[in-house]
Amino acid sequence: MDTRVNMPDEESFGIEVIIQEGDKKAPSCPHGPTLLFEKVCPGEPAGRRFYACSACRDRKDCNFFQWEDDKVSEDRRLAREAENRRKLPEFTHQEYCARFLEFVSLPLEQKRFCQDCHLLLLPPEWTAHSSHRALSDDITVARLRRPSLLLRPLENKKSNAQFLFADRSCHFLLDLLAGLGFRKVLCVGTPRLHELIKIRNLEGKEAPVRSLLLDIDFRYAQFYSEDEFCHYNMFNHHFFNGKTARGVLNAFLREVGGAKVVMVTDPPFGGLVKPLAHSFSQIFDAWKALNPSGNAEGEMPMFWIFPYFFESRILECFPTFSMLDYQVDYDNHPLYKHGKTGRKQSPVRLFTNLPPRDVVLPEQEGYRFCAVCERYVSPGNKHCPACDACTSKDGREWRHCELCSKCVKPTWLHCPACQRCTLPAHPCGGSEVQPGCFACGSPGHKRRACPCGSRARGARG
Ligand code: SAH
Ligand code: ZN
Ligand code: ZN
Ligand code: ZN
Ligand code: ZN
Repeated sequence: MDTRVNMPDEESFGIEVIIQEGDKKAPSCPHGPTLLFEKVCPGEPAGRRFYACSACRDRKDCNFFQWEDDKVSEDRRLAREAENRRKLPEFTHQEYCARFLEFVSLPLEQKRFCQDCHLLLLPPEWTAHSSHRALSDDITVARLRRPSLLLRPLENKKSNAQFLFADRSCHFLLDLLAGLGFRKVLCVGTPRLHELIKIRNLEGKEAPVRSLLLDIDFRYAQFYSEDEFCHYNMFNHHFFNGKTARGVLNAFLREVGGAKVVMVTDPPFGGLVKPLAHSFSQIFDAWKALNPSGNAEGEMPMFWIFPYFFESRILECFPTFSMLDYQVDYDNHPLYKHGKTGRKQSPVRLFTNLPPRDVVLPEQEGYRFCAVCERYVSPGNKHCPACDACTSKDGREWRHCELCSKCVKPTWLHCPACQRCTLPAHPCGGSEVQPGCFACGSPGHKRRACPCGSRARGARG
């Protein structure tokens, strides 16, 4: 059922994102500049390029489409701009903030929240929402501090599904960051972490941590000031509130008085790794430019939360990163819960550019330190002497295969016909399930690794 994880990636469709450097300007949809994609059809000499929405994988949510070489008339361009403006949120962030102040000052019995419109209502607006489902019970200040509980998670299957951290993972993350000495957390698509940071600050037991939330979910603008939240698209590094928001980010990234900043992001899993990495690099660059005194090769510390099977693609973009064994779990996710008891283990991990040995994983959950690998590993992850590493990716104990000379999943067996380890019930020898290279048809490699060159598209065979 999980669309965040089983989404076929761009490559398996023969569609690739082209990151454009330089000043070639992509047309904009309501979600900011679009991305350039290339569709590769087997046997065709060249792929065709088109612009489509960066944020929405589903045409139903944003149907922007334009071939790269399309000529767009002035009329069409103006119509598009009008359409983009029409899709903007009902209120500006400033207006939302003013509304919030007014809302807070209302007596409790006049505090209402419309669940259909995801909106804090002011008394003159009640009639307009009279046929909607409105919450009017106890919208206390304490509840306003937990907007992630008040707002129903967005369920848009392909692009916007929100999966909120379970308390266990959220507290672990915050304890970890505070323990590592970070005083500022840039939350990119992590509203619940942002919320927890603010709540902990109020409790006042530990040194305060500042937090800035960047998220495409504009509903949060109702609850946070312009210094705490920016309406942002992480697939194209687009700030909907332009210059003001960029200024907020820059001010946040500046490490005044030694207040170290770390970034934590939990993007939609169906998301494209390349454009995400491109956006994050721009944040890193801004951080570097704003903190020039730091050592030259220093990178902005970051945690990227993503499923383990994206490991190679993340490392391709960020070679200094490593994947940690910690299993992140979610409240509103029925399948991925921590522990072995009947439920599936979560496939979601932390990727970081911090030294893995510094990221202490909870011992009471069975994580242990491997002195050879110099990192904390899950209980089932045994150090393999042949590989000289703790090789398990999914938390189960993996088995070393002498013939493959590597560790493999416990459920796999070595198949002499295929000359590799695979599931016992696989289509043996003959037609492979793996489509292989989209360009030349070879099963041995993916298109990106095609020796024919990335733009060569020969006949199959
Ligand atoms: N586990 C996190 C939520 C992760 S769900 C937590 O509990 O805080 C993914 C988040 O990314 C959501 O908050 C969603 O609104 C946001 N998001 C989805 N698409 C985005 C985009 N294109 N740009 C910025 N944020 C996006
Ligand atoms: Zn769009
Ligand atoms: Zn080890
Ligand atoms: Zn091994
Ligand atoms: Zn094998």
